[in-house]
Amino acid sequence: MTPEHSGMDGIIANVGPGPSALAVDVGGTIVKSALVDAGGSVSRPSRARTPREGDVARGVVEQIARLLDQARQDHPDREISALGVAVPGIVDEDAGVGVFSENLGWRDRPLRRMIEDRVDAHVTLLHDVRAAGEAEVQVGAAAGHDDVVTVAIGTGVAASSWACGRPIRGRGYAGEIGHLRVTDDEVPCVCGGVGCLEAVASTAAIERRYRSLAQDTTVDGAQDVIHRAVLGDAIAQRVWSDALDALAAGLASITAVLAPEIVVLNGGLSLAGDALVDPLTVRLAERVRLVPAPRLVRGLFAADAGTVGAALSTRRPRLASGDSTRGESNP
Ligand SMILES: [Zn+2]
Repeated sequence: MTPEHSGMDGIIANVGPGPSALAVDVGGTIVKSALVDAGGSVSRPSRARTPREGDVARGVVEQIARLLDQARQDHPDREISALGVAVPGIVDEDAGVGVFSENLGWRDRPLRRMIEDRVDAHVTLLHDVRAAGEAEVQVGAAAGHDDVVTVAIGTGVAASSWACGRPIRGRGYAGEIGHLRVTDDEVPCVCGGVGCLEAVASTAAIERRYRSLAQDTTVDGAQDVIHRAVLGDAIAQRVWSDALDALAAGLASITAVLAPEIVVLNGGLSLAGDALVDPLTVRLAERVRLVPAPRLVRGLFAADAGTVGAALSTRRPRLASGDSTRGESNP
């Protein structure tokens, strides 16, 4: 058995040949990391808790350095020379800067340079939702399509979009669809607005609204609310129906602007499967008239899409050094 095919823990994707690499997806609570071999096989990610104490950006950089050291110790036969890192929030990928993360509390941190100063590897910094979208577009559920929107519905709601096969990045700000106003209800949102998509249809919002309306704190996450709705709980049905309407309204707006052929649903809520895709398809069709309604599908990589996207980034042609240092500054 060659080293490339000896993984006992499974291969989740192939991103094509390139350097041996480590792919890391930094989430608000969990950091996932996966080995990428020279043939492009991506191993099933392992998981660790995201450091949350003190200077979180510094803690995350140190954790990534430890993960790389460990991977090199475990695989002395491989020359791991590339590192793809996906992080949440607003990210300037060209500059390698974490512009803002509410979840991890950083602002304008030159994460790529901080990691490069700490490890001997070529580092790519990515936005997590765009990384997940890239995975679905290149090797996942939207492969072969040029006009694609991927939507991550979890604690927050965000999208990444491709038009004519090119990603729409908007200097790192594109895709914040969680803050489209989708209802006349004055539901407050973390952004300071009201009636935002995220305030009604995120997994956190679905659970929070059910707890408050049903005065029932035993509910265990959005999946439990959906389950109760299916079983006939009237309050759960109302909360879930409001979430579906909000998502349909948001997707209808996106469809009017971008006319995607396909919309890929990722994130925690996508685990609901047909219970999400089927009613959302019906509600979207009711709202979209002149433009053809896009096909809604679940993502192929579910919670691992960001890691696969980070793996893909290690296959990009490398820029000459000095080409991409715009906007970096010391914290
Ligand atoms: Zn908002």
